[in-house]
Amino acid sequence: MPIDCVLFCDTGIEFPQMYEHIRKVEEAVGIPITRVMSDFSYEYLMLECPIERKDNSLSTKQGGNSSNGYSWAGPKMRWCTSRLKDAPREKFLKPLRENYNVLEYVGIAADEQYRLERKRNKSATHIHPLVDWNMTEADCLKYCYEKGFDWGGLYEHFHRVSCWCCPLQSLDELRQLYKHFPDLWAKLKDWDNRTWRNFRADFSVEQLETRFDLEDKYLANGLSIRNRAFFNELHKLID
Ligand code: SF4
Repeated sequence: MPIDCVLFCDTGIEFPQMYEHIRKVEEAVGIPITRVMSDFSYEYLMLECPIERKDNSLSTKQGGNSSNGYSWAGPKMRWCTSRLKDAPREKFLKPLRENYNVLEYVGIAADEQYRLERKRNKSATHIHPLVDWNMTEADCLKYCYEKGFDWGGLYEHFHRVSCWCCPLQSLDELRQLYKHFPDLWAKLKDWDNRTWRNFRADFSVEQLETRFDLEDKYLANGLSIRNRAFFNELHKLID
């Protein structure tokens, strides 16, 4: 079946290398990629947009004000997915659905069962070709590398690539962000200092920075970063 449209829901907080990758894909497939975006930036929604809450005691930081912005996403509150991806996509597709039977091809890989189960029952109009072809994430990466795509090296640093500022990424991915993307890290720290919700339950962005620096110091001296001595010193520095 011919593809009528390739849709990219741009959160505005993808890695610069990802935007370049999408430009290359567009050139290679010869189909223009339609970019849809929210009318509001992530930064505005996260830090500034006025929010009326029944309970303003939500603030988890000293001096934080939970009526300013949604703050960092949490596992049960992925406001950015709904505001920056789902809503712009639906706004684009809704008028099309009134006139056409829209079939959406969704790039969930064969080994992403958890994503598949979340989405599968939602709509009969969603098709998952990678699952039908039994292509795992590793198969897809290999295929794309063979075709000359390298995402500007992003997958050499990260196991998964999502928004660079996602608080739900793993500690190891944050470590990579700190080491290899200092400009983005500086922005992450700035946003964390200006918002009301903790970046993670265990560490603020500044505390993560302290942890990663201490790890480097320990590793350079051949010391473990997993034992009690390391964590005692870390907590002396951040508590
Ligand atoms: S990847 Fe993270 S920051 Fe990006 S939309 Fe999803 S939850 Fe939000």
